Amino acid sequence: IQSKLPDIGTTIFTVMSQLSAENQAINLGQGFPEFNPDEKLIDLVNKAMKEGFNQYPYMPGVAPLREELAKKMAALYGAKYDSLNEITVTNGATEAIMAAIMASVTTGDEVVVVQPCYDSYAPSIRLAGGIPVYTSLTPPNETNPSFSVDWDRIEASITNKTKLLILNFPHNPTGITLEKEDLDRIEQILDRHNILILADEVYEHIVFDKKPFLSLASRPAIAKRAFVISSFGKTYHTTGWKVGYCYAPSELSKEFRKIHQFMVFTVCSPMQYALAEYMKDQSTYSNLSNFYQEKHDLLFNGLSQTKFKPIKSAGTFFLLADYSAMSSKNEFDFVSDLTKQYKVGLIPVSAFYKDPTSTEANNNLVRFCFAKYDDTLKEAIQRIKDI
Ligand code: PMP
Ligand code: GLN
Repeated sequence: IQSKLPDIGTTIFTVMSQLSAENQAINLGQGFPEFNPDEKLIDLVNKAMKEGFNQYPYMPGVAPLREELAKKMAALYGAKYDSLNEITVTNGATEAIMAAIMASVTTGDEVVVVQPCYDSYAPSIRLAGGIPVYTSLTPPNETNPSFSVDWDRIEASITNKTKLLILNFPHNPTGITLEKEDLDRIEQILDRHNILILADEVYEHIVFDKKPFLSLASRPAIAKRAFVISSFGKTYHTTGWKVGYCYAPSELSKEFRKIHQFMVFTVCSPMQYALAEYMKDQSTYSNLSNFYQEKHDLLFNGLSQTKFKPIKSAGTFFLLADYSAMSSKNEFDFVSDLTKQYKVGLIPVSAFYKDPTSTEANNNLVRFCFAKYDDTLKEAIQRIKDI
């Protein structure tokens, strides 16, 4: 057969997890929590199974879960979505991203993506016949120790062929978040250009320094032209369950659901009922930022004692660190050698760029995932402290 994605191999996350396993390394690469979900949530899944929720559920997601998602959206972000027509439960955010792109992008349409970016965006755009148009965040420099968003640069990549702009905040891999002024800028961009937004908000419940998360759904002018996507994977330590969701106005949701029903039709039934019951209690997600802030600080402080130069994150369960004081290797080689020699697996940030070998992609930065037990993080720091 003729490959539709000839240049695409296995994802960097799988490659680096395999390398970690082969080398018995501590895997701080691929982003997944080391801990189990709350027993209560597991019990609720069992309960749902025993109560007979084991057959095909309603295609867009079971009513109790869509209703809870509508309530949460209204309570946290003041956004009103009709649970019947505007919320769809998906197989993780990954399926939601693909379905939103398939629903909105046709042959020759341009889609703006901001590098470094999550690896599923560009292949999804290409499979829909679209053209990924790459722009970039500004890398850390003397005046700003972390990555930053240059909205002028993003706006300059929008043409009359642009259909969609993909934004992801809190941002994987840089950990940056948006401020009110950024949301103003997005509104201005939408005023000037007839485009849609895909907001990937899977880290919505992991924002540090007691700051509230500013969902793009909180601005009606953005929400009415956006697919707002998130996932229970990061929120409840259930990345392996693959349950996510997409909020979008009914005319967008209608097209989204046509794709969803033929990609997967529906999502695991007992998980949906269990999640609906569990999320009624806000404390199941409202403490997550504090939980991860401690781990962020532990890793940040630990790395500060090594030759790595860590960069503070504002959200997500990732942080970046500069290794230029210890090596001049490119990011991929540095990470591979570190995994083999020092038994700590990481992700090269260059993997989040269109061309990982380009100068732009190589800033001597690696990504650490700190969704791990404190002892795991301490052991990893111990292993790299004398490099
Ligand atoms: N978007 C981003 C930015 C992610 O980091 C991830 C996974 N870590 C996803 C989407 C995919 O989420 P899911 O596992 O729910 O498909
Ligand atoms: N999103 C996770 C990460 O950034 C991994 C997801 C995956 O392996 N596809 O590490």
